Amino acid sequence: MQSSIIGYPRVGSQRELKFATEKYFRNEMGSSELYSIASGIRKSQWAIEKESGLDYIPSNDFSFYDTTLDTAVLLNIIPERYSELGLSELDTYFAMARGYQGEKGDVKALAMKKWFNTNYHYMVPEADDNTSVKLVGTKPFDEYLEAKAEGVETKPVIVGAFTLLKLTKFTGEKNAVDFADSVAEAYSEILRKFSSLGAKWVQFDEPYLVHDLSEDDIELFKALYSKILSAKGSVKVLLETYFGDIRDCYNDVAKLDFDGIGLDFVEGRETLALVNKNGFPDDKLLFAGLVNGKNIWRNNYSRTLAVLDTLSDAGIDTVISTSCSLLHVPYTLDNETKLSEDFKNHFAFAEEKLSELSEIKALFPETDRSISEAYKKNEALFEKREGATDESVRKRVSEIKEADFERLPAFSEREKIQKKEFNLPKFPTTTIGSFPQTQDVKANRTAFRKGTITEEEYKEFNRKKIAECIKLQENIGLDVLVHGEYERNDMVEYFGEQLKGFLFTEKAWVQSYGTRCVKPPIIWGDVSRIKPITVEWSTYAQSLTDKPLKGMLTGPVTILNWSFPREDISTKESTYQIALAIRDEVLDLEASGIRVIQIDEAALREKLPLRKSDWYSEYLDWAIPAFRLVHSGVKPETQIHTHMCYSEFTDIIKAIDDMDADVITFEASRSDLQILDSLKESGFKTEVGPGVYDIHSPRVPSVEEIKTSLHKMLGKVQPDKLWVNPDCGLKTRGTVETEASLRNLVQAARELRNENI
Ligand code: GLN
Ligand code: ZN
Repeated sequence: MQSSIIGYPRVGSQRELKFATEKYFRNEMGSSELYSIASGIRKSQWAIEKESGLDYIPSNDFSFYDTTLDTAVLLNIIPERYSELGLSELDTYFAMARGYQGEKGDVKALAMKKWFNTNYHYMVPEADDNTSVKLVGTKPFDEYLEAKAEGVETKPVIVGAFTLLKLTKFTGEKNAVDFADSVAEAYSEILRKFSSLGAKWVQFDEPYLVHDLSEDDIELFKALYSKILSAKGSVKVLLETYFGDIRDCYNDVAKLDFDGIGLDFVEGRETLALVNKNGFPDDKLLFAGLVNGKNIWRNNYSRTLAVLDTLSDAGIDTVISTSCSLLHVPYTLDNETKLSEDFKNHFAFAEEKLSELSEIKALFPETDRSISEAYKKNEALFEKREGATDESVRKRVSEIKEADFERLPAFSEREKIQKKEFNLPKFPTTTIGSFPQTQDVKANRTAFRKGTITEEEYKEFNRKKIAECIKLQENIGLDVLVHGEYERNDMVEYFGEQLKGFLFTEKAWVQSYGTRCVKPPIIWGDVSRIKPITVEWSTYAQSLTDKPLKGMLTGPVTILNWSFPREDISTKESTYQIALAIRDEVLDLEASGIRVIQIDEAALREKLPLRKSDWYSEYLDWAIPAFRLVHSGVKPETQIHTHMCYSEFTDIIKAIDDMDADVITFEASRSDLQILDSLKESGFKTEVGPGVYDIHSPRVPSVEEIKTSLHKMLGKVQPDKLWVNPDCGLKTRGTVETEASLRNLVQAARELRNENI
């Protein structure tokens, strides 16, 4: 048996690429140095993969920002507004990724969206009627040759034609079908090129296939690949699918001339049944995604081997693989010096997954596996986990009643009460919570963590920052203030650290988008709150101002979604445990005089199952109640805000309204304002703050630009329900651009108030 992975992380095990790229952005590093650091990362990873005994080693899984963007650029899907800036190739690429504001022009970034059901974001390719799709780039070929020169034969990985077309935004009259021919031709050209370079395999990633597909989708897929595959020459083509099963097109896919098909046996609930029922073509290799590419728990060898045995009994030629790219897990446990071995034994990050693959590969042909040390060690892990169960938590969850999900009185009543209570101006202004995490803020946290300053010194510094932040917001003229979140490294990690049941890592970074990485906590056991978490900071901030101060919490669904979840109890059970813990915090904030409380559910949308038929039964039926459970205990006067990153909730708008918050802020500036139509159509009751500018980019929006957005919003949202705010937290931004942007935002709101709307 052979082994394969779909892709590897790329920011570097010490985030070398992130730091280098950010230096490049700040003009502190030239492009040649950046290229050479990137090359070093690629080479060292290939060496590790080869060393582990991996048979199919990926290339072109590297990216300076995002592989979907790489593919768009490779195929000349570059909107004119970027190409006409006249920047270098690399800078044009970064302009598409992050926007550009400088002497050559002023353009926003491409839209960014969550990559399927993950916390990774891809850049949305954009094509208009003049876009001429053709192979113009050389990245996959360069990287293939670079590996070859190192003595490593790789399997280049490219986002497939179908997924690329489905993810592309078409801004003109033409649609995916109109581009099918030129796209198929460009991919054919890729295969011809690889064939001439002597590549053995090419992997096309088609995760889009795990959605509910229409007949047209399947037709498009078939049309694309009957063309593309006829250009294979001597190259073998692996079709990779992940994040679910391909039940809608399994038989169609099996009939096409692929040489390998990758199926996800972890998230694909029906994968095994599909193979059992329909068989698997004997002219192809099955790349069986059995090692979870998304979570960090050790693989259960006995279960994995049982599946491999079934496949082998059915006479299927199988390659053991990860279920998706390892992009979604951290590099290596070797970086974790503080976590005890008792914990570490239960985990496998990317590098450890490589050894799992090789162990499984070695165990597979064994006649008596149970005498193998590796097997025995693995089996023992699944017998019991120390400290995972807390009976009092289990009991509390089992005692939740229907009434605990219901906040009283109803929204419309509360809205009236709160309008009186707060007496805010029309179009109230606020921010999403965090203020810039400048060097001094990070240094303060690091010093405290390392023990070089005392707790009191640490807190004193934060109090000073909070005081400055309050003063700044008052000076700018914002209406509902925040404390700035200086004590937080990350909105989930921070809460996890204060809750019982979580484990933390030092270096377990996972790429979220571009150079941004997150360090998800691990939910080890039953979760509960030990003591108040945010009360001290929020009450201090409130004591400095007469304006309402918004307490800032992360919601249970987001905490769950941005952690590595347990695999031994249901996500619903885990989320209810977290909801009860956050509920305690909400009630403590209220009791301490905090009148506005924001419960961020930044990640609620992203774990929506990819198949519509699963939306409610598998997810929303417990995710929305979990949120309601958090805030149902507060007084009518207490205003509950929530925030969601991104605005693709058109389809679940009813569920979002059912969260029963008083105000929701969300992203609306990067994608178009389409969401507003849906708000209007659905009679959305919750007050809304559709972000008026994009905080993912360093550019400063003008007053006019913000007013234009607000006017558009007012076409769809009742004036007394509209809030004015940026589209997300400001922690990644610089202080100068933040202040300038917020001043423009407040000015825009003021001018609007004078318009007598
Ligand atoms: N309150 C958080 C912040 O402002 C929200 C972050 C987020 O939505 N990702 O940073
Ligand atoms: Zn956000």
